[in-house]
Amino acid sequence: MSAVRGLGKPVRRSLNGDRPGETGTMLPPLVDHHVHVQLDAGPAPGIAAVVDLGANPGAVASLAGRDGWPRMRFAGAFLTARGGYPGDRPWAPAGSVRELDAIGPDAASERRHHALAGPVQGAVDEQLRFGASVVKVVLNSAAGPVLDRATLDAVIAAARAAGLPVAAHAEGDGMAELAIRAGVDVLVHTPFTELLDDTLIGRAASAGQAWISTLAIHVRDDPRAAELAIDNLARFRTSGGRVLYGTDRGNGELAHGIVGAEIVALMRAGLTAAEVIESMTDPWPEPTPAWVDAGVATFVPDPAPGADAVGDPEAVAAWLGAARVVPTEELELL
Ligand SMILES: [Zn+2]
Repeated sequence: MSAVRGLGKPVRRSLNGDRPGETGTMLPPLVDHHVHVQLDAGPAPGIAAVVDLGANPGAVASLAGRDGWPRMRFAGAFLTARGGYPGDRPWAPAGSVRELDAIGPDAASERRHHALAGPVQGAVDEQLRFGASVVKVVLNSAAGPVLDRATLDAVIAAARAAGLPVAAHAEGDGMAELAIRAGVDVLVHTPFTELLDDTLIGRAASAGQAWISTLAIHVRDDPRAAELAIDNLARFRTSGGRVLYGTDRGNGELAHGIVGAEIVALMRAGLTAAEVIESMTDPWPEPTPAWVDAGVATFVPDPAPGADAVGDPEAVAAWLGAARVVPTEELELL
């Protein structure tokens, strides 16, 4: 019995399976918490559910409404400052960017006395009407204007009033700090443009903020950014921070399905194999896994890595990389 096996239940696939009688491990369904289905809609073997974090809201709503797998939750449009990222990017699909004018501190104090109104409320309501489960804001000081604190606060207030979490893209000096101080629920990328100090990381973790990993894109593109992100994530993890597996699929070329380089980088940040699996089975942005696990489970065929290989990132990534989404009824507990 391998140590990795201990993370799930030993099972045999039923004789109706395509590889009859095969034995392996059953895990809960796996989620990629950061994708862009409009930019990459190819197959995703092993992934039971995805969270789209930036798309044309009508287009992503119709993709999410299809039958079958992967299940989908989505943010709808990128909410950003007037003239802000990613409005000028050629990859941004038509209708995927919603620019907000700064409401300014006076309007913010006005807001405390009146119902939330105006363009911020309108932008949040629009995503909600399409069925969004999360509101995405963009704070990228490296590429144009950024939402001021008052407008960001108004977005957060409008989302909270609608019962939705807020997820922020934070890039450039001070942007992670802005998002943490404002109390956003999730950073959609591990901070990768600067090292955060321990106090700020501790504040994020103790506030219950979650960070979506997206380390493999930096390992691929920019070793310095990868190093910064892994350092930040390692300290976020030791502070008790909640880590969510996510790849930013649609951002350049990535392996389809389970991205081995993401798992390897998570383990380099100190996550154990069990913590990696936790980060992949977290039901965010929903509070419970019912949206993911209706009728399916993850089957990972033998051979699992041995007890001495459970701390070996490459061995764990290779093992998880063979995972498949299967109907739960096909699996017989051993
Ligand atoms: Zn993204």
